[in-house]
Amino acid sequence: MFENIQKKLSLAVKNLAGKGKITEKNIQDAVRQVKMSLLEADVNYKVVKDFISKVKEQALGKAVLESLSPDQEFIRVVKNNLVELMGGEKPEKIIVSRNPGFIMMAGLQGSGKTTTSAKLANMYQKDGKKPLLIAADTYRPAAIDQLEQLGEQIGVPVFTGDRKNAVKIVKEGKKYAEKLLHDIVIVDTAGRLHIDEKMMDELDQIKELINPEEILMVVDAMMGQDAVNSAKEFNSRLELTGLIVTKLDGDSRGGVIISTRQVTQKPIKMVGVGEKIEDIEPFYADRYASRILGMGDVLSLIEKAEKDIDQKQAEEDAKKMMEGKFDLDDFLKQIKQIRKMGPLGKILEMVPGMPKENVDLSKGESEMNKMEAIISSMTLKERRHPRILNYSRKQRISKGSGTTLQDINRLLKQYEQLKKAMKQFNKMGKKKFLGKMPF
Ligand code: GDP
Repeated sequence: MFENIQKKLSLAVKNLAGKGKITEKNIQDAVRQVKMSLLEADVNYKVVKDFISKVKEQALGKAVLESLSPDQEFIRVVKNNLVELMGGEKPEKIIVSRNPGFIMMAGLQGSGKTTTSAKLANMYQKDGKKPLLIAADTYRPAAIDQLEQLGEQIGVPVFTGDRKNAVKIVKEGKKYAEKLLHDIVIVDTAGRLHIDEKMMDELDQIKELINPEEILMVVDAMMGQDAVNSAKEFNSRLELTGLIVTKLDGDSRGGVIISTRQVTQKPIKMVGVGEKIEDIEPFYADRYASRILGMGDVLSLIEKAEKDIDQKQAEEDAKKMMEGKFDLDDFLKQIKQIRKMGPLGKILEMVPGMPKENVDLSKGESEMNKMEAIISSMTLKERRHPRILNYSRKQRISKGSGTTLQDINRLLKQYEQLKKAMKQFNKMGKKKFLGKMPF
């Protein structure tokens, strides 16, 4: 994800880094690159324009111009503004306070609405609540069966009623929830391929019936501008309370996060990061901004590594890494090396995709411990070819290392991200770049 944005931004930074000092002229060039990258990521033009004028103003300010490493300062300015654009540092929570409280799910067919409904139900169940799913997507064939199966898998009841009339299903489902004392009711509504009046009418009626505390629209990050347009329409008709962006684990252009938020002015409340039931998480704008700007952080990490660690070993590793050849065994070596560098918090902060809450030193340590434990529980073949890690292998590793499947998937993702970033970095020509870095 975000490859495009990253590439462009790293180019902008590269150009700045060569200059040593930032001037109005080279800021203009860097800003133009940022602008292009956001436009290419499907971010709305007006949003980009406002964003750029802010970045420009701040980048030309004293702090950046007089900084010792203006390129890093510039990244900081872009990052802060990105975070703001995506809704600030604090994740917005889904709020359900009534009993039962209703969450209405909306979205186009294929956006991941049914899957996300089950993911939410699972999350609440784990949290000690007593959720009920109401299957009112009577349009997409098999949506009701799919929700039933998911419900069975996670042990959450699914109300299906007569399976034909969505409004009737919801009406009866509501009574059922009240009778059986469910405290959170998640209603999966009709998904069509396109918005039409009949569907909107039905959604209106359902909304009226349940008076939901949350109306969450599920949008597919891969859908680009179409996702943005539909979010706008849904919002004007239903008054959404928030958005859930799915498929952020894929190759999507991250612009949907920024654009849907901007056109609806509604917060992204959760993000979907995979097909499995646990693959849902709160939206940390800060983390996504870091990911977008991941290149810069990786660069600092390498710089630090080269200074602090056994030079020869580091060079060998860096070469391997940058050719995209390093496997999980090398990754384990890296982790061990990194531990020598300390303070861990600072280093973890630089690894793209690393959860920010881990910046806390003790948690950073335990994250490293987990990573070590996971890789250590793998066979050599698995470390060399992580692709063969299927579900049963992961289960074995999870048992062996005392970690969860989620931990394992997270580690694999971080490994993939680092590998990808390194490949890009390599393309840019490391020697040339580092030689020019002003530190
Ligand atoms: P609906 O028509 O909106 O109810 O869509 P579904 O819930 O059936 O999801 C459509 C497809 O997207 C399914 O194959 C899901 O497994 C997949 N999907 C949903 N959310 C995610 C996600 O966050 N990541 C990935 N990779 N796939 C997802």
